[in-house]
Parts: sequence; C-alpha cells; structure tokens
Amino acid sequence: MIVGGGVSGLTLAYELKKLSKSVCLVESESLGGKIATGMLEGKVIEEGPEEIVSSKSLLQFVEELGLLDQVVRPKNGRFALLRNEKLYTVPEGIAGGVLRVNAELFRSLLNGLFSFRTIARMMLEPFHKLNVDGDISVNDLFSEIYGRSFVDEFFKPLAGGIYGGDIGLMSSSVYFPYIVDIKKKGKSVIESFLGKKINFDLISFKKGLGSLIPRIVEKLEGVDIMTGKTVRSVNNEGDRFSVNVGSEKLESRTVSVMVSPYTAPVFKNMDDYIVKKARLYVKISRIAVINAVYDKKFESYDKYSGILTYPDVYGVSGATFFDSKWPINDDSGLYVIKYFVPFESYIDETRAIKIAEKFSREHFHTEKPVSYRVRIWNEALPVYAVGADLLKQEAEAYMEKGVYFGGSFINSTGIYSSVMRSKSMAKRIESYLETSTHAGSEPRGSL
Ligand SMILES: Cc1cc2nc3c(=O)[nH]c(=O)nc-3n(C[C@H](O)[C@H](O)[C@H](O)COP(=O)(O)OP(=O)(O)OC[C@H]3O[C@@H](n4cnc5c(N)ncnc54)[C@H](O)[C@@H]3O)c2cc1C
Repeated sequence: MIVGGGVSGLTLAYELKKLSKSVCLVESESLGGKIATGMLEGKVIEEGPEEIVSSKSLLQFVEELGLLDQVVRPKNGRFALLRNEKLYTVPEGIAGGVLRVNAELFRSLLNGLFSFRTIARMMLEPFHKLNVDGDISVNDLFSEIYGRSFVDEFFKPLAGGIYGGDIGLMSSSVYFPYIVDIKKKGKSVIESFLGKKINFDLISFKKGLGSLIPRIVEKLEGVDIMTGKTVRSVNNEGDRFSVNVGSEKLESRTVSVMVSPYTAPVFKNMDDYIVKKARLYVKISRIAVINAVYDKKFESYDKYSGILTYPDVYGVSGATFFDSKWPINDDSGLYVIKYFVPFESYIDETRAIKIAEKFSREHFHTEKPVSYRVRIWNEALPVYAVGADLLKQEAEAYMEKGVYFGGSFINSTGIYSSVMRSKSMAKRIESYLETSTHAGSEPRGSL
C-alpha cells in the first residue's frame, strides 16, 4: 500500500511492480503531486519544480520511461544576487541548488559580492574547528565557520531562495551533513573542495517536468490506483495493516508513506510517535509562484538565468528567467518570468500579483505582462528544523515493522533524492516481504 501519488509514490509503485509485487496506491487529489506543468499563452510554464538534479541512475530511470530524447539542460546563464539595488553574479554550482564551497568561490571572492571584512573572515575558516554537540541551525553553522557577514551578505537569500525556509530554523545536519562532518573532524571546508570542479547536471524535458508523470503511470498497468481518496489512519494488526481509505478498509503487508508529515496518516495500535515527531520538527514553507508572460525580453539581464534576493526587503525571494534558462519554448517573442513570493500567513492571488508586479516594475522596468498564472502553495517545501536529523534514523527503524517513509516525509528538497529513495525502498520492501513470516502473501481487500 502506497500513500501518495506524487513522483515519489509513483516511482515506488513502478519499482515494486518491476519486482512483481502487488501494489495499491492511494492519492487524495490527482497524480503528480507538486509537479505542476502548465501552459500559458502557448508557453510551457512550471508552477512547481522546474529542474531535477541528474545522475547516471536518474538518467537510466528517464531512459526506462522512454524520455531520454526529451531531456533538456539549462543554458549556462548564472544567477545574480540583488542586494542594495546592485546585481552580483553568484558562483556557479551554488545557484544549481546545492551549496558547496569550491575553487570558483575563491575566484569570485573579489568581484564585489563580499566585503573585505567578510573575505578576511572567510580566509580564517581552515583554522576554525566546530565545537558543538548535536545539531545546530544552518544559520549558526555558517555564522560560526565563515562569520555573520557572510550569512547576511550572501547566504541568507541564497538558502532562503533555494530551500524556502528560515535558516535560523533549518537543521545543518539535514541540509549540509558533509560540511558539518568536515568541520567536526577539524578539517577545512575550503580546502576539501579546492580545485574540485563540481558540476550539477540539471535536467528537465522539452514539454516540462510534467512529462514524467504520465510516462510513469503508463508503466503501472496492474497496479490499483485510487485517486480522490485520502488515507487518514492505519491500524496495525499483527503482521498486517488495515488501511482506512474513505469508508473502505484495505489490508496490506506493508504501508509506504510518501506524503508530507502534515498529511501523513496516523498509525493506530502502533507507536505512531514518528508521525507526531515529524509534525513537530518539520515545518511548512509557503510560497506563491507567479508565472508572468511578457512580450518583451529583458536584454540587460540576458546573461542571467534568474535573480535571488531578500524577501524581507523586496517581497520576492527570486525570479527565474524561464525562457533564458530552459530551451523549452519556441522563440515566439513572448517571455516567461517566474516569481517566488514567500509568505507566512494568508496570501491571495491579488496580493501575490501586486508584489511581483512592483518588483518587476522597479527592477526589470517592465510594463504589465500579457498574462499571469498564480499558484499558491500553502504546503510547499518541508523545512527540517534543528533536531530533525534523528527523524531519518527513526524512519529507518520503522522499516523493520513494515512501515516505510519516503518522499516529502523524509527528503528535504528535491525530486532527485525522493526518486532515489523510492528505488532503494522498493528493494527493502522486497526483502521484508521475503523474510517476514507470511512470505508470498498478497494484499487483500476490496480494491
Ligand atoms: C514551488 C516549488 C518549487 C520546487 N522546485 C524544485 C526544483 O526545481 N527541483 C526539485 O527537485 N524539487 C523542487 N521542489 C520540490 C519538489 O516539488 C518535491 O520534492 C517533490 O515534488 C516531492 O514529491 P513527493 O512525491 O515526495 O510529494 P508530493 O508531490 O507532495 O506528493 C504527495 C502526494 O500525496 C498526496 N497525499 C497527501 N496526503 C495524502 C493522504 N493522506 N492520502 C492520500 N494521498 C495523500 C498529495 O495529494 C500529493 O499528490 C519544489 C517545490 C515547490 C513547491
């Protein structure tokens, strides 16, 4: 039984089907979850994610789905940081989604992005040992090792933009485990990455990320897929689970929870501590995504893929120049800019548009766009707070009980890690079914 039909749940269903397991997937809304490709004025737009970090095994998955000839990669334009009305080019690799301090950062130290004070402080990093027990916030980690000004001048908008979260809250052990590890060993981060060219292969598809979903679904013949049904609770009955789906009760040997903690079902007759704990440690980020179509290109910004900035100052955390970045759309003379407007409490479409419009008027000197599409994500990215590092270990322990956590429950960002986890979960589920007492038995129920 798989709860959730986003990309994680669907990938798990696909992998389990390949292993000849009998699978039922329940989705409360429609398949695809946060992957939300749309069309506006004849242009492909992404209202949710727009790129996947790729690797050999991810490309193999794409090939299995018959999508290899559809793959597109971003053009080399870089991100710029807007600070005090000035644009600073962001080092490559960082804007790709994962922060690593590499040789390029050294080269860009002097391009005005950092003040001399910050540079001097950063140079001291190799001599600095991290003396902390347990988890600390991302803000504290980077303030400790590179100094406060590095965080304020650069890191805050960068991480806030990418992870959609408050860096004072985010767990360093979850988001930057390799940096924590290097520092706890008393080694230097700058030295560890020095001279290493770190390339992130980012991909999408000619018709957007949405192409993934029907291709996975096509491969799920024989899998019971129930849409428009919500799983609210699961009862543990010996070595089986009775799953409440609306008014129906279905039985399964294993349950895989591929949804965010705030919508995860509660486990009865069983220690459901992990779901409660996750709700405590995993916070929600909220974001309005505004895709705006213009009939004019912004020539002066051509070399950039987008802009990152400070939401508390500018209202938006970033803007992607969708057409410059992805060679998805034809050269129709129309251009798409995708704005990100984070918010803490209620926001409506009109207010989100007003914020994006003000930003584009003041910084891109635009006229009104030809049209807009607004998507409000009240539960955007899960933000893993300090202390949440133990959650993964606890989730692993549940696997011995036939309960599996993946997707947004356990992966802080990104489709890549969610897909990879689904693949490894399928193998764990197979070996659980083989080794536990009722090997070979199938899920029962009125499907
Ligand atoms: C604006 C935005 C931009 C992003 N950009 C990127 C990006 O560029 N690259 C990237 O890799 N990632 C990005 N992400 C993150 C990415 O979208 C997610 O990591 C990924 O889509 C999560 O997939 P999932 O299947 O784990 O969860 P989801 O897509 O959230 O799917 C979970 C599904 O479960 C269903 N569900 C929930 N509760 C229940 C229940 N009780 N019973 C039945 N069904 C239930 C939901 O309806 C949903 O369809 C972005 C996210 C947002 C919001």
